[in-house]
Amino acid sequence: MLSFLRIPKQSLINNFKKINKMSFVKKMDTSLFVSSDSRISGEAEKVKCLIIGSGPAGYTAAIYAARANLSPVIYEGLQPGGQLTTTTEVDNFPGYPDGVTGPVLMENLKKQAQRFGTKVRFGLAVKVDFSNRPFKVILDDNILIEAQTVIVATGATAKYIGLESEEKFKGSGVSACATCDGFFYRGQDVAVIGGGDTACEEATYLSGLCKKVYMIVRKNYLRASKAMQQRVFSTSNIEVLFEHQTKEIIGTSGVEGVILINSKGDDVKIDVTGFFVAIGHQPNSDVFKPYIETNEVGYILTLPGTSNTNIPGVFACGDVQDPHYRQAITAAGSGCMAAIDAERFLGEHGMV
Ligand code: FAD
Ligand code: NAP
Repeated sequence: MLSFLRIPKQSLINNFKKINKMSFVKKMDTSLFVSSDSRISGEAEKVKCLIIGSGPAGYTAAIYAARANLSPVIYEGLQPGGQLTTTTEVDNFPGYPDGVTGPVLMENLKKQAQRFGTKVRFGLAVKVDFSNRPFKVILDDNILIEAQTVIVATGATAKYIGLESEEKFKGSGVSACATCDGFFYRGQDVAVIGGGDTACEEATYLSGLCKKVYMIVRKNYLRASKAMQQRVFSTSNIEVLFEHQTKEIIGTSGVEGVILINSKGDDVKIDVTGFFVAIGHQPNSDVFKPYIETNEVGYILTLPGTSNTNIPGVFACGDVQDPHYRQAITAAGSGCMAAIDAERFLGEHGMV
């Protein structure tokens, strides 16, 4: 994250100290949190460690927190199991020599977390008050939780262009992750849509696996950094199609081609079997933003080398704080860090 933000490590550390000292925490409408509010039924449930999000980061945090006797409660959100439940084969998660499907991997992680006593619940965090500890979190069914520590593991959502045919071929030719799915297109022709750093990175990565990579860029220039552009332009099997928009993805059981519209308004067909969408990700951090520092696009800022956010006792892990790697294993690794950070925090406050 540091190199992405280009903030020197010490300055970020100082910044965090300053934020904490200056009591960065803003007041919010606490009327939502009084038990007389008709939207909240009953007393607040008190927990030591609340985990929000049930992807690889959340479940790994739960495994570690449960084994450390933090009695974690995890809320799954609208996508129980997270992004991996939308994919088939996962070949790069360590420990599965023959690969594993995303849903099975996530079910295994859930069972492992439950084996040590994690309480897994369906529910969406809709509002938080992190101004004081215990932190208050409201779930969509009007349950109020008071938590001594909160681990935010809400992930990020890949943006798609919004075509019907794109939706139809998701998982069978349309992907938002070249590192995850590029391997399946070895020796084939593929397209990457987008003109930013992510698209350039994806195209460069795919160029090492695929026969030909088309980059479909809607403007007449790339938005990516000069260094990234240079890598693209110096790679012989990447062809950049400037001023092209995607009209439709065609195929029967899988992608067979893409119809583009060029700057003159003419249709242009390219024969590709993979269509990689790289037009950005949206971190799921809005609900925490009144309190938690994010970068300009919404990734939660963590103190380098830790999962600490600007609020002591609130930790972030996984894709919601990672604009760089966005992999299941890195999410899981940072989930482990968050649980250990939470355990240490509670220890320092005499809570374990
Ligand atoms: P996510 O998996 O995004 O999970 C976020 C969780 O937070 C979800 O459970 C969601 O319901 C919950 N949530 C969100 N908001 C709220 C809220 N307000 N309240 C409560 N809960 C909330 N990576 C690999 O390493 N290998 C692969 O092969 C691979 N394939 C992929 C294929 C596809 C199609 C996609 C989209 C991604 C793929 N990835 C792969 C990337 C990987 O899925 C992510 O890096 C990883 O899932 C991130 O984990 P996470 O725990 O941070 O978040
Ligand atoms: P981005 O910079 O927002 O670029 C998104 C690209 O997708 C733009 O070219 C945009 O076109 C295009 N796009 C958006 N919606 C589209 C649509 N509906 N149809 C066609 N094209 C569309 O996103 P990003 O590349 O994911 O980068 C996000 C941030 O992460 C950036 O700050 C970037 O520098 C950073 N990042 C850095 C690195 C690195 O340094 N190694 C790697 C990845 C990302 P327009 O230009 O026409 O809007």
